[in-house]
Amino acid sequence: MFYNSTRNSNIKVSSAEAIIKGLSDEGGLFVPEILPRLTDSDMKYLGRMNYRERAHLILKKFLTDFKDDELKTAVESAYGDNFAVEGTTELSKLYPDCYILELFHGPTCAFKDMALQLLPHLMTLSAKKTEAVKGKQIAILTATSGDTGKAALEGFKDVENTSVTVFYPEDGVSEMQKRQMTTQEGANVRVCAVKGNFDDCQNGVKEAFTDSDLIAELAEKDMVFSSANSINWGRLVPQIIYYVSAYAELLEAGEIEAGEKVNICVPTGNFGNILAAYYAKQMGLPINKLICASNSNNVLTDVIKTGVYDRNRELILTASPSMDILISSNFERLLYHLSGNDDTTINELFADLKSKGKYTLSAEIREKLSENFYGAWCDEAQTAQTIKAVFDEYSYLLDPHTAVAYKIYTEYKKESGDNSKTIITATASPYKFCAAVYRALGETPEADEFLTARKLEELTNTEIPAPLAKTQSLPVRFTDSVEKSEIKKAVSDIIKTL
Ligand SMILES: *Cc1c(COP(=O)(O)O)cnc(C)c1O
Repeated sequence: MFYNSTRNSNIKVSSAEAIIKGLSDEGGLFVPEILPRLTDSDMKYLGRMNYRERAHLILKKFLTDFKDDELKTAVESAYGDNFAVEGTTELSKLYPDCYILELFHGPTCAFKDMALQLLPHLMTLSAKKTEAVKGKQIAILTATSGDTGKAALEGFKDVENTSVTVFYPEDGVSEMQKRQMTTQEGANVRVCAVKGNFDDCQNGVKEAFTDSDLIAELAEKDMVFSSANSINWGRLVPQIIYYVSAYAELLEAGEIEAGEKVNICVPTGNFGNILAAYYAKQMGLPINKLICASNSNNVLTDVIKTGVYDRNRELILTASPSMDILISSNFERLLYHLSGNDDTTINELFADLKSKGKYTLSAEIREKLSENFYGAWCDEAQTAQTIKAVFDEYSYLLDPHTAVAYKIYTEYKKESGDNSKTIITATASPYKFCAAVYRALGETPEADEFLTARKLEELTNTEIPAPLAKTQSLPVRFTDSVEKSEIKKAVSDIIKTL
């Protein structure tokens, strides 16, 4: 099986190459040439498999240049005791027809672990299969708005022949997220705060990637840059697994009938999570509507409703920071598929995005988009009200991201009259965003995050996840903070220590 670039369909690479490169040379994203199908016999056996076995079955269909036992070992190392629940994910029935798929039981308490616990294994295997990087050290650079950084650190810590450096906005992450990163353990990890916002971190890292001085410094040490960014195919493919797995689980439990269509509702930022659900649908998983939930940064709602993608607006900081994003990179992959794999269309659209900050979809793409997707958004007050209402009614505590999704699900149901069973993905533990969640419940947070966490435990009769509680007693290892103009120098200093 091969992968093409969204901006040049003639480019054809193996999955190992797609994972090592991350981005195609001309700036396109790698997409599978054809989507493998879930067969009737797959569906029959999936129900009795555990998460690792399901992961193996799905990965085998996509990563055809990996050996069977390589994939087996990778999934066994990725999805084991490092997750707090036996099944890796947990499916909670909020009420009949509404299921919450908890994807936050990994070591960093956000859904990013689902992919980033596996990616280091896929990346080191890919490096061995790719002539140009064979035997070289991989230096991972990542900019984060909070969750990706910690998940990348935890995934790559002490992985042989890799190092990982994370830049985060000093005042743009929650106290818990900062604590998680600055106390990170491992010999090959570095964390640095940036006096700026997420875009400044992202731009600094992007510049470092292509900086000829830095590349030369790395080459001297027999190293290459790579990224753990969510546009990497190696991060997308593991996300398909949990949709198939959740469906198999519902089927096995007799909650749905064979072939019954379910809706999937996803709190969306960079469009990776919901795109994986679209891929699952294209593989034959019975999915009806994909419900794309946004916060006040509602570019995706607009493009789904009007066909116009317009990033010319201010980024709004919200209580769901992992969705504070104006360029949803993975949306490009969806447009490529909806256009019938037409690279010319993609080049035109993204040239418009670059020059005008916006583009308009053709009537044909628009129609396919709204056939598959429903999009809506809610504001900060609605997010807080949803956290409180769901807790009061069902004693279930949502994090702010998942609350956005729940709110949009109820709106969709009202608007469409569609009563299909729906899976809502829960993307983070509420304890990652203690202050916002505690405030939503009508209380005043303490200055100390851990004190707020204790009070939240008492108030809601829930428990702070162990990996978060643990950070309170861990020593802070990383205190560096740089101006946004100093990221290159910081990377250079780090390279000297590798
Ligand atoms: C990353 C993230 C999202 C957004 O996911 P995308 O795949 O970027 O759309 C939503 N919620 C949380 C908690 C996240 O960390």
